[in-house]
Amino acid sequence: MNNEIKNIAVLTSGGDSPGMNAAIRAVVRNAVYNNLKCYGIYQGLQGMIDDEFSELGPRSVRNLINRGGTFLKSARSEEFKTKEGRSRAYENLKKHAIDALVVIGGDGSFTGASIFGEEYDIPVVGIPGTIDNDINGTDYTIGYDTALNTVVEAIDKIRDTASSHNRLFLVEVMGRDAGDIALNTGIGAGAEEILVPEEDLGTDRLMESLNNSKKSGKTSSIIVVSEGDQIGKNITALADYIKTNLEGYEVKVTVLGHIQRGGSPSCYDRVLATRLGVGAVDALIEGKKKIMIGISHKKIVQVPLETAIYNKKVFDTDLLRVADIVSI
Ligand code: ATP
Repeated sequence: MNNEIKNIAVLTSGGDSPGMNAAIRAVVRNAVYNNLKCYGIYQGLQGMIDDEFSELGPRSVRNLINRGGTFLKSARSEEFKTKEGRSRAYENLKKHAIDALVVIGGDGSFTGASIFGEEYDIPVVGIPGTIDNDINGTDYTIGYDTALNTVVEAIDKIRDTASSHNRLFLVEVMGRDAGDIALNTGIGAGAEEILVPEEDLGTDRLMESLNNSKKSGKTSSIIVVSEGDQIGKNITALADYIKTNLEGYEVKVTVLGHIQRGGSPSCYDRVLATRLGVGAVDALIEGKKKIMIGISHKKIVQVPLETAIYNKKVFDTDLLRVADIVSI
C-alpha cells in the first residue's frame, strides 16, 4: 500500500454517459472503505480551476446507481489546455490536500489529465466514460451498452412506420470517429445498410445494394448512418441523392441526437461502472499512476494512459461482413 495517498478526488469530463454516476459512487465507496477521503469536483476539469470541490461520503452517493448523466456535472474546459489554467487547478488540489485524481471521461479528458499528472507529479487514473466505445485498451466504455439499447428501441419503432408505408429511413446515430454504435445497432435492429466512419462504401455501392433490396422484394429499408460516415455527404444531402436516384420509396431522415446519451444505465453499464470505479481506487492504493482502468475479456485491466490516448481501437471489420450477409 502506498501510504502517501490519503485524499483523492473524482470528476467527470467531456460528454456525459449513462453509468457515470455509478462509477462515481464506486470510487467514493471504495475510497471510504479504504479509509481515504474522497472529494467530488463539479464541472469537470474546469471545476478544478474554479475550486468547485466537495467532500463526498457513502451517503452522498445514494440513489445514484440508476440515474443517467452525472451529478458532478461535466464540462469542456479551454482554460485547462493552458499552463496557467492547470497551475490554478494544482493550487486548488494543494489547498484541499488532494494527492491523487480519478478522471471519468474520454480520450480528450485523459490527455488533459495525463499532461497535468506529468506536470505536477500527481497520480492520475482514468475511467473510460463515453457512449462511443472509441477508447483503445478497453473492450467497453461506460454508457455504450445503454446507448445501444436506446438506439435499437428507437429503430424498432421507426421500422413499424417504415414498413407500413414503403419508406426508406436514414437514421443518424452518434459516432464521429467510431462506427461501433452504428454497426452494432444496425445488426441488432436489422438494418439494410450501415454507414460507418471507418469504411467508405461509396454511393455507387450503396445504390446498387438498395436496388438489389428492392428487386428482392423488400418494400421498406432502414439505413443506419454514423455521424462521421465517410460517404462524404451529410445525412440530408444523402437522402436527397437517394430520392433522385431510387424510385418507389419515400425517403425520410431521423437524427436520434442526444436521446442516445440519456436514460437510466443498463445493468451491464452499472456493473461495468462499479467494477471500473472500484478498480481505479485499488490502482491508486497500489501506487499506480497514469493508467486507465479498462475491461478486457471480462477481466479488469490496468492500461497505460498513453495506450488509451494515442492508439486507435481496432475496428471489427468482420461485423461489416456479418451485416452484409444478413441484409440480403
Ligand atoms: P468525449 O468522448 O465525450 O468527447 P472527451 O474526454 O474526449 O469526451 P474532450 O472535449 O475531447 O472530451 O476533452 C475534455 C476536456 O479535456 C477538454 O475540454 C479539455 O479541458 C481537456 N483536454 C483535452 N485535450 C487537452 C490537452 N491537449 N491539454 C489539456 N487539456 C485537454
